[in-house]
Amino acid sequence: MATERKILKKESLGPLFEKMNAAGKRILAPRKTGEQIRFEPVTSANEIAADFVQSTASAKWAVFPAVEEMLSFRSLDKETKLEAKQSKPQPTVVFGIRPCDAAAFKALHAVFATDYKDDLFLDRWEQITLIGMSCTKADDYCFCTSVGGNPGSTVGSDILLTPLANGDFLAEILTEKGQQLVASLDGLFAAGGSDIDKESLLAKVTPKFDAKQMKAKMDAVFNNEKLWTRQSLRCIGCGACAFVCPSCSCFDIQDERYGGKGQRLRCWDSCGFGLFTLHTSGHNPRHTQAQRWRQRLMHKFSYGPEKYELPGCVGCGRCSRACPTDMNILGHLLEIAEEKL
Ligand code: SF4
Ligand code: SF4
Repeated sequence: MATERKILKKESLGPLFEKMNAAGKRILAPRKTGEQIRFEPVTSANEIAADFVQSTASAKWAVFPAVEEMLSFRSLDKETKLEAKQSKPQPTVVFGIRPCDAAAFKALHAVFATDYKDDLFLDRWEQITLIGMSCTKADDYCFCTSVGGNPGSTVGSDILLTPLANGDFLAEILTEKGQQLVASLDGLFAAGGSDIDKESLLAKVTPKFDAKQMKAKMDAVFNNEKLWTRQSLRCIGCGACAFVCPSCSCFDIQDERYGGKGQRLRCWDSCGFGLFTLHTSGHNPRHTQAQRWRQRLMHKFSYGPEKYELPGCVGCGRCSRACPTDMNILGHLLEIAEEKL
């Protein structure tokens, strides 16, 4: 679909939220609580956090919740009765998602829809519309331009807003979902914007490495135990990096029972956890943190791109901001980029 440009006036932001609410849509937007900025349900534009580089956690829970019930069961005498989850996801608009995070939704979709079609994920996916917000500032942790993105990338968004100096927004309508939303909002998006130099409004993020070359480097250093050990020495395997990551997709499935009833739950997991690959026999094929750190990087920069033709990392920098021991993924990647092939 050809991109259409329009203008969203700053005074139209309030009515935009009112109309989406009235249409029964759940709106998730970045909200500030203490030092944390998280995507949470909001009903008004006044609740949205302003003037930040990146939210603390991503919005991926909108399609891939941290914990979700897959089914419930009841044991009756010798028989167990399964009850499939019935509730249909509510139509949801994610407002103000950064371009890197919107691209990460595509990476998640590749995982949940390429081989096995995951209905729990896909049902939510069908109901979701992403209104992205271009970045006008970045910090030293951002490296989207090294992994195919940029601060005004339209990849993944249905509508992308770019803030203008006067407080209005340039709106790029990118998909049919975006078109339908704009059409339902009754003239809130005005004609205009075709002559705006969007590039000049965006944050500057200098590319630090080439993602395609990084795959070749990763494959070449796979057996370099010294490198992986050195890089992972500070890692305590807490999993914070995976839990804030917009593209990490590891999960575990557990049955929780109480009395004759129970639920099958899918919960976020992390390849950084020591128990992640522990077999019932006691054998653990990734028994050191170095192996687990290698797996994290190989998955994102070698196996993922090879299988899905998409980077498994969108360069949001959250893992480095969140790490309690100051592991910096960009620093580690640059070290690998300098390895001789
Ligand atoms: S957040 Fe840091 S310490 Fe925790 S698992 Fe990730 S890299 Fe290791
Ligand atoms: S690995 Fe780190 S920088 Fe890459 S997408 Fe995940 S949180 Fe962002």
